[in-house]
Amino acid sequence: MKKIVYVVLDGLGDLPIKSLGGKTPLEAAETPNMDRLAREGVTGRMYTVGKGIAPQSDIAVISILGYDPNVYYTGRGPLESFASGLEVRDGDLALRVNFATVDENWNIIDRRVGRNLSSEEARELAEAINREVKLTSVPATFQFKSTIGHRGCLVIRAEKGKLSGEVTNTDPAYDKIGPLGVAKEKFENVVQEAKPTKGHENDPAAINAAKLINEFTRKSYEVLNRHPINLKRRSEGKMVGNMILCRDAGDHLPKFPPFRERFGLNFASFVEMPVERGIAVLMGIEIVELPPPSGDLARDYVERAELAVENIKRFDGLYIHIKGPDEPAHDGDAERKKQVIEIIDRHFFGPLLERLDLKEAIVTVTADHSTPCEHKAHTDDPVPILISGGNIRPDGSESFSERVAEKGSIGLLEKGTEFVPLLIRKSRL
Ligand code: ZN
Ligand code: ZN
Repeated sequence: MKKIVYVVLDGLGDLPIKSLGGKTPLEAAETPNMDRLAREGVTGRMYTVGKGIAPQSDIAVISILGYDPNVYYTGRGPLESFASGLEVRDGDLALRVNFATVDENWNIIDRRVGRNLSSEEARELAEAINREVKLTSVPATFQFKSTIGHRGCLVIRAEKGKLSGEVTNTDPAYDKIGPLGVAKEKFENVVQEAKPTKGHENDPAAINAAKLINEFTRKSYEVLNRHPINLKRRSEGKMVGNMILCRDAGDHLPKFPPFRERFGLNFASFVEMPVERGIAVLMGIEIVELPPPSGDLARDYVERAELAVENIKRFDGLYIHIKGPDEPAHDGDAERKKQVIEIIDRHFFGPLLERLDLKEAIVTVTADHSTPCEHKAHTDDPVPILISGGNIRPDGSESFSERVAEKGSIGLLEKGTEFVPLLIRKSRL
């Protein structure tokens, strides 16, 4: 059995773009190393969660690591709260939150405080909330944590009994469909009242959860609206962070059977974002600590390639999640996305292929979802896959791209959960 180097380029998949001469960023990019892997290997495509589902990264990563999100996912709230260091017990209400700007009638002026609330400011506001807000509608305690910029997490624990995640969002921009958070296309821009979701109207755990969210919303608004940081921002003509918008409620962490038991493989992971880190930890996949970003992508990628060559000796496989292409795609910047793909090819795959023995390992490259630059958002478009090395025989793929992958011998996988079992078969050839 060969070692498995499993590389995911976040948001890699795309569609043809006019400004790139009708090519996708991956097609337009110079990628001699990934092209070589494709030529010596096989290609194909997959729906990372399923056709018709434009997934957030968290659900997609769970799926392409071989766990059906319909079975295991319990919402973004619990996962982000856990990843940001908050304790989430069964029956705790865990939410993903945003600081936002509202007027006195709670009309939302900006969902993200003009995107310029610093993490430092947010931390001070969070401290004031933790200190001054007391929840009494149902006896309960809470922990509120700001993470990056306007983002944060909230975990509420009832003193007696359990709370239920079956509650609607106060954030009007998102719907809650089962455990999934879904962005709405049209919505009234007013803070919503949390309510039990359909079918849970008579469940005391959901009724209490909704009560607590509404009480937290009211009381935190009072604390935030008169906080010195916001008074200062107001006097400087900046938007104020005076509202906490709640969404993606859940009431327990996912219970993944350990990756090692499920697939018989001892994997380690390189992950950048807290949520992906949380997922890996919950799956029992070891985390390889990465040096903090240096501001120089090329340098960071070379370092990662070296760490991969080192660490593959100790494990059956590595899951390497590289955030690079997703961000420029959200900004609609196809040229930058192309450049980032080139930097990854040159500075990650270059040194990796120089030092990795492809007789003893297979390398796979794919994505967690497509983020087409023209949509500036995740879509359900299938992502390209390449698998190379070991005893894999070439299937005639000439390069790595969405179009070439359409004709590759892997075909089109209907679900991301099929992918790890496929890798295992290829590693045993
Ligand atoms: Zn992603
Ligand atoms: Zn994204």
